[in-house]
Order: sequence, then C-alpha cells, then structure tokens
Amino acid sequence: MAISHRGFTITRVPMLADNYAWLVAHGGASAFVDPADAAAAIGAVEDAGGRLDWVLLTHHHDDHIAGAVALAARFGALIAGNAADAARLPKLDVALAPGQTIDLGGAAVRMIATPGHTVGHVTYVFGDAAAACGDTLFSLGCGRMFEGTPAQFHASLQALAALDPETLMLCGHEYTLSNARFGRHVDPDNAALAARAAEVERLRAAGAPTLPVRLADELVANPFLRAASAEEFARLRAAKDRF
Ligand code: ZN
Ligand code: FE
Repeated sequence: MAISHRGFTITRVPMLADNYAWLVAHGGASAFVDPADAAAAIGAVEDAGGRLDWVLLTHHHDDHIAGAVALAARFGALIAGNAADAARLPKLDVALAPGQTIDLGGAAVRMIATPGHTVGHVTYVFGDAAAACGDTLFSLGCGRMFEGTPAQFHASLQALAALDPETLMLCGHEYTLSNARFGRHVDPDNAALAARAAEVERLRAAGAPTLPVRLADELVANPFLRAASAEEFARLRAAKDRF
C-alpha cells in the first residue's frame, strides 16, 4: 500500500516486532530508510518494481541498520548516512554532513542533524513531502534519550517542528498507543490529543498502523514537540521513562 504525497510515493515497510522502515520513490528513483531486516526490505523493493538507488540510515542502532549491506548489494544501491557517525554505521558509500542533499529522481533529499536519541542521529527530509525521522520523533512521543542532552533533543524536535506542516512524518516505530496514554496523563485537557488518542485506539484495535502522521497533527498533540524549553522536555522525558 503506497501513499502519494507532493510527487513522492511512500511505502511503509513493517519489520521486526514494531519497527517501520520506509521506501520513498520520486521520478523513477527510490530510497529505503532504516532496513533492519534485509529479506523484508528486498521483498518491498521487488514489489515496488525492483529499483533501489539509496539506502539511508538515521542512526547506528541494530534495529535500523542490520539489513543495510545485504539490501544495498542486492540492488546496487548506495548507502548514505551521517559522516560524523560513520565509525558506528555500515560502510558508507556517501558520507553526508548535516545540511547536505542527495538527489532522488530530480528531487532533493536533505539530511538534517537531529541528535538526542543518539548523538549522531539524523533525519532525511524529502522535498516538502516527508521526513524520515527514525527514533527522534514518534507519533505523540519521542525516542529515549540514550546519548544526547535535553538541550540537543529539544532543539532537534524544534527543527522538525519548523518543517512544512503538511510534511508526513515517517517514524521508526509503532509506539503510538502507549505514547497516547502518557500524553493523556500529562496533557488531559488537550482536545486535539484526545481526538488523536481515540483514533489511535480505534486503529490499533483493528490492527492498523498509525503512521505516517502529518506534522500538523503532531504539532497540536505531541507533548514532546510542544515542550517550550529544554527543561520542560527533560521533565517530560524523565516522566515518560518512569510511566
Ligand atoms: Zn534507536
Ligand atoms: Fe529503533
């Protein structure tokens, strides 16, 4: 099942227990973000026509990179990631610095730094259509702060918040239901959050995914994206870790 948005074709590829990888195509070219499972990734590319130009990595955790080498080799794709984290990633064919772009069938894919979950975490922004944000932002939540500081993580979320509100957020995990419960606990009077939580409960009860999600919908409902300061972010993150 593929989603068309602003000239891009986006396919959600479930893998492992609750990971989502993403296949994004434009102008006949395609990129695969965070292939944990090579077999699942290869199957998805074959179903979409069998062409793959790029394997894009958001961060070094195994559940985002384990299938990268086999997937790239199968289709002759180039592996790209954050140059600053190259030592912890599979061998990069293209090592990018934050702000640099690659070409995807005539469209620009910009890598931006989004440290916090890990210090080398990056997000790939596909034109004005979509952002593959790995474990930085989840719907109604965010990743655990394994390496970064609250100031770094808050700044990363603010960088995502500044993208075009119609951007589809391609998050790395289906954690929305548990995030919704925490969100309702810390922001019980937020009507947009209550509506999203109800939608998420319906979707999950039916076995349906909650992603991708429009940035505009997260801006009104996600407590971590709405945190006004690094201190508020730190309080929320610590509370969620204990929730
Ligand atoms: Zn991770
Ligand atoms: Fe992950």
